[in-house]
Amino acid sequence: MKRHCTLFVALVLLLPRLAPAQTNPFSTPSPLPFQAPAFDKISDSEFQPAIEEGMNQRLTEVEAIANNAEPATFANTIEAMERSGAMLVRVQRVFGALTQSNTNPALQKIQSEEAPKLAAHRDAIYLNPKLFARVKAIYDQRASLNLDRESNRLVERSYRDFVRAGALLPDEDKNDAAIVVDTKEELAGLPDADIAAAAEAAKSRGLTGKYILTLQNTTQQPPQTYLKNRSLRERLFNASVQRGNGGPNDTTKIGSRLAQLRAQRAKLLGFPNYAAFNLDEEMAKTPDNAIKLMTDMVPAATAKARDEAGRMQTLIGSAFKLQPWDWQFYAEAVRKADYNVDESQVRPYFEINRVLRDGVFFAANKLYGLTFEERKDLPVYQPDVHIFEVTDVDGTPLALFYADFFSRPNKSGGAWTGSFVGESKFLGTKPVVYNVENFTKPAPGQPALLSFTDVTTMFHEFGHALHAMLSTIKYPSLGSTPRDFVEFPSQINEHWALEPSVFANYAKHYKTGKTTEYLGAALLDMAWHSLPPDTALQDANAFEPEALTRFHINMPEVPPRYHTTYFSHVWGGGYAAGYYAYLWSEVLDDDAFYWFREHGGMSRANGQRFREMILSRGGTEDPAALYRAFRGRDPIVEPLLIERGLKRSPTDTRE
Ligand SMILES: [Zn+2]
Repeated sequence: MKRHCTLFVALVLLLPRLAPAQTNPFSTPSPLPFQAPAFDKISDSEFQPAIEEGMNQRLTEVEAIANNAEPATFANTIEAMERSGAMLVRVQRVFGALTQSNTNPALQKIQSEEAPKLAAHRDAIYLNPKLFARVKAIYDQRASLNLDRESNRLVERSYRDFVRAGALLPDEDKNDAAIVVDTKEELAGLPDADIAAAAEAAKSRGLTGKYILTLQNTTQQPPQTYLKNRSLRERLFNASVQRGNGGPNDTTKIGSRLAQLRAQRAKLLGFPNYAAFNLDEEMAKTPDNAIKLMTDMVPAATAKARDEAGRMQTLIGSAFKLQPWDWQFYAEAVRKADYNVDESQVRPYFEINRVLRDGVFFAANKLYGLTFEERKDLPVYQPDVHIFEVTDVDGTPLALFYADFFSRPNKSGGAWTGSFVGESKFLGTKPVVYNVENFTKPAPGQPALLSFTDVTTMFHEFGHALHAMLSTIKYPSLGSTPRDFVEFPSQINEHWALEPSVFANYAKHYKTGKTTEYLGAALLDMAWHSLPPDTALQDANAFEPEALTRFHINMPEVPPRYHTTYFSHVWGGGYAAGYYAYLWSEVLDDDAFYWFREHGGMSRANGQRFREMILSRGGTEDPAALYRAFRGRDPIVEPLLIERGLKRSPTDTRE
C-alpha cells in the first residue's frame, strides 16, 4: 500500500457488442510495435461502436463454443474461451485507461450507457447453462486429462469464475473536491512550487489571483505538513472528511446499501458474509486470518501514535489541544527536531527525470538486466505522457512502458498501473504497460521536484509494471494474481528507493503514524463486509465509530486513512474486504527484502532468482507455494514490524 495505489489489473471483462467494423481502429490489432494503441487514429466517437461490436463478436464466439456438437475438450472450450472477445479486450483496455486518466464528458456518457449493457453481457456468458456444463465437464475430469500445471490451473480458475459470477461492478466514485484560498499569506509555509501550482489550478478554473488546494483521496492532505495557518488547516481537514457526508453528493446510504447487497450475494453463494466470500480466493483464505494480522498490530501501532501525540503536545504547550489537522504539521516539527531532515529541504534532490532514469530504471537494470529507451515516434493520448521501449538482458524487445505522471483535472486521484496489451504466449502478445500518478505539475519553466512520498510511489507503481512486463505466462486469464499477493512486487520495489541509511531511518520514522491510519481504514472495510446478510441498513455515522472502538483503534487525532463516505477503494475500486491486502503484501515484501539482505543485497543473481520464481509467474500457481519456494519457508511478520518501527531489530543498538 503505502500510497494509494489502485491497481487495475486488466479486468479482462467479458463484455459485449455492435459496429461499423472495417473502419474502427479496434477492429484489428494495432499495426504499431507491440500493438501499441494508435492514439493518433482513435477518437472518442469510436469507443461506443467498438464496445458494442466487441460484445457482439464475443457473444457469437461464446455461443459457438457452448453449442459445439463435439464433446467438451480443453482446446475446444477452455482455450477457445481464452481466444474469444479479442476486439472487446482491445477497446476495453484503452477505454478503461482513458476514463481513469484522461476523461471527458463524452467518455463519461459512454461509460454510464455501456455499464449496464456490459454487466448484462457478462451475465449472458457466465449464466449460460450450456457453456457452464462444458466447463464443468472438463473440471470434473481434469485429473485424468494429463494437463500441464498452467493449463490445469486455468481449468480450475475458469470453473471458479463461473461459480462466483453474478457481480455488478458499481460505478466509480469520483472525488473532485477542492478549497479556494483568497490570499497568498494564508498559504505561509507551503513550498513555492506548491503555491505556484495552487495559483495555476485557480487560474485554470477562472479564479485568477486566488489559490486552489485540490483534495487528494486520503483523509489527511499533503499541504497539512506545511501550512502554518491553523484555521486553514482546520478548513482543509473538514473539507476532506465531509466529502460524501450529506449535501448533494451524499454517499452515506450508498455504502451501507452496498454492504447489505454484498452480504446477501455472499449468502446465495454459500458464504456467511461478503468478507468470507472474497477471501476464499485470496492468499489469506479467511477474514479471521486477515483481521488477526491487523489486530495483532493495533496495540503497538496505537501506542506509538500516542507516544508521538504526546511529543507533539509538548511542542505545542498549553495553547491548544492537538487535533487531527495539526498532526502532520507537528509530526514534521518533531521530525526536524529529531533528525534534522525536513521534506521541503530534501525535495530539491528529487527531480522527476533523475528519479525515473537514475533511480527506477537504474534499479531495474541492476536487478533484472533491463534497459530503457524513449520512443518519441509512437502516439500518446496526452502530451505529458512519455513512452519507453524496454529491452531484455539479451537484447530482445520486452515491452513498452508509458509514464503518465502529472495531475490534471480530468484524472482520477491516486496512482495505478494497467496494461493496454497483456503478455500472453498463447495469443502472441507482449506487454504494453502504463503507470499513472498524480504528481504536482510544475509551473511553466520550473523543474518537477518530487517529495519523498512521490518517489516511493513511483518505485511502487513501477514494481507493478515490472510484474506485468516480466510475466512469461501462456494464458491471458492467468495474468492476474490475488489481491493480497498483487502488492508484493510493487512494495518490494519500494525498498530500492532507499539506500543511504539516513533516508532509511527517516522513512521508518515517517511511517509510524501512518500505520494507525491504515489499520483504521482496513478494519473499517472488514467491519462493513463482515455484516451478516440479514442486517438492517446501518447509519454510517454511527457504525463507523462503533466499529473502530470494537477494534480498539478509535483515536480521534489519527482518523482512518479513508472514511466510509469517500472510501472508494472498497465501494467502487474492487478492494471490498480487500483493503487489508496492502498490509498482507507488506509482510511478504519486507520478509522477501530481508532475503535479499541475507544473500548479498541488490545483485543481478538475486534479481534473476526473484524474476524467475515470482515476477514471471503471474497467477499460474498458488502464491503461497511460489513464495515458499522463493523464501525457503512461509512468510513471517517480524521484518514488517521492524521496518515500521514497531519492533526493534536485533542488530539495532540505538537508544
Ligand atoms: Zn500497488
